[in-house]
Amino acid sequence: MKSSPSTKSSTGLSTRAIHGDKLFAFKGPVSLPIYQTSTYRFESSEDAIRYAKGDPTVYVYTRYHNPTVNDVETKLALMEGAESAALFSSGMAAISTAILALAGSGDEIVSTPSLYGGTYRFFRDDISRLNVRVAYADPNRLKSLEKLITERTKIVYFETPTNPALDLVDIAELVHYTRHAEKRLKRKITIMADNTFATILNQNPFGLGVDVIVESATKYLGGHSDIVAGVVLGSAEFIHQVKTSAKSYGGCMDPFAAYLLFRSLKTFSLRVERQNENAMQLARALERHKKVVRVLYPGLRSHPKHKLARKQMQGFGGMVTIEVRPSKGRPPAESAAAVCDRLHVAVNAMSLGGVETLVSIPVYSSHVFMSDDELKQHGVTPGMIRISVGVEDVPDLIADFAQALEFA
Ligand code: PLP
Repeated sequence: MKSSPSTKSSTGLSTRAIHGDKLFAFKGPVSLPIYQTSTYRFESSEDAIRYAKGDPTVYVYTRYHNPTVNDVETKLALMEGAESAALFSSGMAAISTAILALAGSGDEIVSTPSLYGGTYRFFRDDISRLNVRVAYADPNRLKSLEKLITERTKIVYFETPTNPALDLVDIAELVHYTRHAEKRLKRKITIMADNTFATILNQNPFGLGVDVIVESATKYLGGHSDIVAGVVLGSAEFIHQVKTSAKSYGGCMDPFAAYLLFRSLKTFSLRVERQNENAMQLARALERHKKVVRVLYPGLRSHPKHKLARKQMQGFGGMVTIEVRPSKGRPPAESAAAVCDRLHVAVNAMSLGGVETLVSIPVYSSHVFMSDDELKQHGVTPGMIRISVGVEDVPDLIADFAQALEFA
């Protein structure tokens, strides 16, 4: 089904999230048809021949392409201001395919050390076996990037805010030093940002010079804790390369999950704006609680990088991390667990970004299987509770945490 070519990103984010490229003279269904099919009938073998000759308009097999999935890709590209997008069966499928589309044996990646545990373990345990080396730059001394980037560096990869410590990386500075190194080496280095925590509503890495955005669409884009999905966004040329790799790696998105994501995107702005508001109010209340040692939230003045947050974020997001003050003699992780067990409104479950408030203890969830040194490098302590703030009535959340913290 063809749509108007005149739809461009001159419309606001909510309009793009609701209508995608189906504006103005578009005729067709208001919702999105689900092409729940693995394969496609050819009218005649002419179609197969056209496909074999490289005609991209011939649908052949859902691991390669699917109209429902493609429609949501178009919408996401419009929302995020990218030329193109590729959807995947999970955030990790998106991240690993994007990395493997670019880096091979002998290549290097430079990253910042505080990463989602799954990405960090992919770097530590998997691509190391393919002879791809990862070097880590101190996010507080990004000038060191110039030295760490060598002739072999293909990718500079980072996350901000980081999971779960909510530290920030100065995106403009990271881009500046990478481009400087690029000039010295006279070749392209792809800067890739995981924008899962902030989302495009709160932070626009493309506007600051980043080449590729990867995101777990399981989180804020999906928003209802009912799908697992991932997306890679970038230039049409790069996404073509990623989709070619995806054919072999096989992490394609299921059409029904794509439909659920399409549905979720219609309320994306509403949800994330409310999550921003709730998180700010909850963070302020938790800062005053005697059983809380510290609250990490980029929107608080007490956050070490609050100034940077104001510079590079349009909203501060829905993630708040606290460190509980344990009762005398009690191990901090035990106190954190006791608090999570006493919550009635917030749900004790991994993941984030849903309409329901979720809590998790990083040493038992995202940052499990890491040494003490690795936890330190990620800024993770045993008494931390990561809160993904939902869209409930905020007084209920504040009261819930106030009572549960008494059991720390
Ligand atoms: N990136 C971040 C920041 C995450 O928090 C996660 C998952 O928690 C991922 C990537 C991986 O996404 P998925 O679980 O959809 O594979």
